Amino acid sequence: MQFIDLAAQQARIRSRIDARIAAVLDHGKYIMGPEVAELEAALCAFTGARHCITCASGTDALLMPLMAWGIGEGDAVFVPPFTFFATAEEPALLGATPIFVDIDPQTFNMRPNLLARAVEAVLRQDADIYPLPEAARTRKLTPRAVIPVDLFGQAPPYAELLEVARAHDLLVLEDAAQSFGGTHHGQRHCAQGCHAAATSFFPAKPLGCYGDGGAVFTDDDDLAALLRSIRVHGKGSDKYDNVRLGLNGRLDTLQAAILLAKLEIFPEELTARQQVAECYARHLSGIKGLTPPHVADGNRSAWAQYCVLLPEGSRPAVMDHLKAQGIPTNIYYPKPQHCLAVFSRLGYAAEDMPAALQASRNILALPFHPYLPEEDVCKVAAALREALA
Ligand SMILES: *Cc1c(COP(=O)(O)O)cnc(C)c1O
Repeated sequence: MQFIDLAAQQARIRSRIDARIAAVLDHGKYIMGPEVAELEAALCAFTGARHCITCASGTDALLMPLMAWGIGEGDAVFVPPFTFFATAEEPALLGATPIFVDIDPQTFNMRPNLLARAVEAVLRQDADIYPLPEAARTRKLTPRAVIPVDLFGQAPPYAELLEVARAHDLLVLEDAAQSFGGTHHGQRHCAQGCHAAATSFFPAKPLGCYGDGGAVFTDDDDLAALLRSIRVHGKGSDKYDNVRLGLNGRLDTLQAAILLAKLEIFPEELTARQQVAECYARHLSGIKGLTPPHVADGNRSAWAQYCVLLPEGSRPAVMDHLKAQGIPTNIYYPKPQHCLAVFSRLGYAAEDMPAALQASRNILALPFHPYLPEEDVCKVAAALREALA
């Protein structure tokens, strides 16, 4: 059994991918070829966002809006502690201080009431209001931005998060690397009313290419223009008239071509993902001690990962039991961000973010992809039932 079976998808659309790649080899415009603009238009139509700026990775998609906003030294950027590293890495790379805001223990997403407390704590330099990093206790940082993550494919409560953000003039950057294709109250991810959204086309994401890729979405015309400049070394009207610092952040034409072929079947794959998730829910119900994923009201998950919670201390034995039966599993994420060595300088204690800590101890990701047959779901469920008996 594969954890994610990309070969099954490729077998289905191989001829369309071959044709798309052949078209690029024929026209030879490997950098910013016509497929890039075609993809950006298709992704705008798909999400409902006004602008799409494709880029080299999901990481660059997070970095570029932060650069455009001039985020840096002295700024506080609020991020969840239970996420992939890039969410906190990019603001830190620009010299800003990541301020961790703990998660809901059921959805694993940032809690709006804790965001409000964390902002208050930064403004008052008071860690009794909410745990703060050393840098925010010793000097007054400026709250500038928040990066809510749609972890495993579903949204945090955006209306509430945006209300807190508005009250404090925070820029909101949706980290939709795992949620592309999902919806929140009927609205696609990357069009949730945030100032910008970032997604990733890493092969294992819901919409993946055959290498690295990403995209930024925004409804803001000025921000879109800035992002297009930052994507190509801060170009002005001419590419050798550089007007700001930027990146080599373009998406390859070949990856755009592959994504165009994959986008054709993506809506069907999202339906299949939902069906696999429902199949898991049926087969996992009633397993002692196991908590299946909880999807919040109003959310339709893109199911980047299918993660269950296990009873405290049981995970190593459960993983071994499944492995012995040829069932691969993974842990997202074994360490919350505030416990990583790279962030030790922030001076957080592990217990400062209790929900993230708890989730990191007990979470387990099961094999999941749109082509997973019901018999494999049965096999995984049976193995879990035995392991937890
Ligand atoms: C994958 C991921 C990223 C980074 O995307 P890359 O394309 O790998 O750079 C950022 N945030 C989250 C939550 C992710 O899952």
